[in-house]
Amino acid sequence: MSAERSDPPATVAELEEGLRQLHRMEMQTKLQLDRVESLVTAAIKILHRADIVHEKAVEAEAVEQRTKLFAERGEDARVYLGPEVDKYTVDVPDIDCASLMHLCKARCCRLSVALDFKDLDDGLRWEYSRPYELRRRPSDGYCIYSEKETHRCECYDKRPSICRTYDCREDKRVWEDFAAKKPAPWRDDVGVAPPLVQIRMPKSDTR
Ligand code: SF4
Ligand code: SF4
Repeated sequence: MSAERSDPPATVAELEEGLRQLHRMEMQTKLQLDRVESLVTAAIKILHRADIVHEKAVEAEAVEQRTKLFAERGEDARVYLGPEVDKYTVDVPDIDCASLMHLCKARCCRLSVALDFKDLDDGLRWEYSRPYELRRRPSDGYCIYSEKETHRCECYDKRPSICRTYDCREDKRVWEDFAAKKPAPWRDDVGVAPPLVQIRMPKSDTR
């Protein structure tokens, strides 16, 4: 006999709020670790000055230990957050996307974009395995809000600040020569590296 639920299942919004809280806690832990690291470093320096331990020997040992740990753990997990700006008032570059889209195929919408908490409040979707990177379609690497045929942005009014302020004109991943309207060769991997991502801590968590 299956147990009957007395409460409705959690909504996506509730789940995401929970995840955000987890990520905040994770960042706080990271900051606390930074503090511990600075204390240990200070202690080593004091002991070195007192000729009790030798700083270089400690550093060499630490590098060896770090290399070992890195090999064991792989790439550190990170939380990506977009710039803390008011996306509704940022300066937008003067680019006539509508007339260029048939050439560029909206390559900008295959780059990695970090969301800010305001974007999350606006309901924009993110990659659960790479918080808070704007979610992309596995099938073609485009942002999930890029309409498949036209590449029109389906969340245009709420799009993240990075999308608004991004200037593709000098980006060689997008244009070989913007003035000559010559797009860069197509790259399958372009969405993988997070070139537009900015990593920062929320203001309330910084010391
Ligand atoms: S790549 Fe440049 S021109 Fe093309 S849609 Fe993006 S911002 Fe507009
Ligand atoms: S949110 Fe809109 S402008 Fe930004 S990457 Fe997605 S489709 Fe492109």
